[in-house]
Amino acid sequence: MERVNRRASRALKTPFEESDRQLLATRLSWWSNLEPIERLRMEELIRVFLVDKTIEGVFGYSPDDEVRMLIAAQACLLILGLDYGFYDDVSAIVVSPGVVVHRGSRRLDGGVVSDDHPTLAGQAMLHGPVLLVWDRVANDARHPERGHNVVFHEFAHKIDMRNGAADGLPPLTATLSERWRAQMPVLLARLRAGELMPVDAYAATNSAEFLAVVTEAFFVLPTELADAEPELYALLQAFYRQDPRARDGARRR
Ligand SMILES: [Zn+2]
Repeated sequence: MERVNRRASRALKTPFEESDRQLLATRLSWWSNLEPIERLRMEELIRVFLVDKTIEGVFGYSPDDEVRMLIAAQACLLILGLDYGFYDDVSAIVVSPGVVVHRGSRRLDGGVVSDDHPTLAGQAMLHGPVLLVWDRVANDARHPERGHNVVFHEFAHKIDMRNGAADGLPPLTATLSERWRAQMPVLLARLRAGELMPVDAYAATNSAEFLAVVTEAFFVLPTELADAEPELYALLQAFYRQDPRARDGARRR
């Protein structure tokens, strides 16, 4: 684990609860298929995340330990191969029990990215919190076969915002960045023509949504994505520095 603050290092000295391992294994389809070394890293990330980030409810709702644990675990999966610093900018996670009615204008400058189309419900704010609707989070975790995950989606926006407003170009190495810039327009065009599988059409909204939606597919339906779009899968694998398809293989054996 990289250098962390005092509260986090105290949390790391506390053993990970067996009951939490049980919870994660029961509720998250991918948890049991993590390599032992990945699981250790995940348990570290989760403990740090839980003391470092405020997870609070709105509308009188108060997220319990189970909800906090499940949100933390899914958020941390994205940075399993990256650095915890990718979430420095996540000030808090605000959890609403049900769908939030989004009123007022929708800013499209990448500073606030609201996802209120029928299959997603969440929001990621530049230098601000992530809003998650718990019944969507729970539903996505129950039905991985549908390929959606609002936690992965919103946290992909936060990773994208690590180098400024959400534009679908997260901080990547120079080589990777060049590959991503070259392929993105081609992939977007294919998506708009209905040829990019298994990626939700919402990805065609703009380049920021593209990154967030292909991130969902990468983590939720890795085998399907790798089979249909090997180049896109390879790019995401190089960026996230992990191979969810290998874990998927373990599930299918
Ligand atoms: Zn989005």
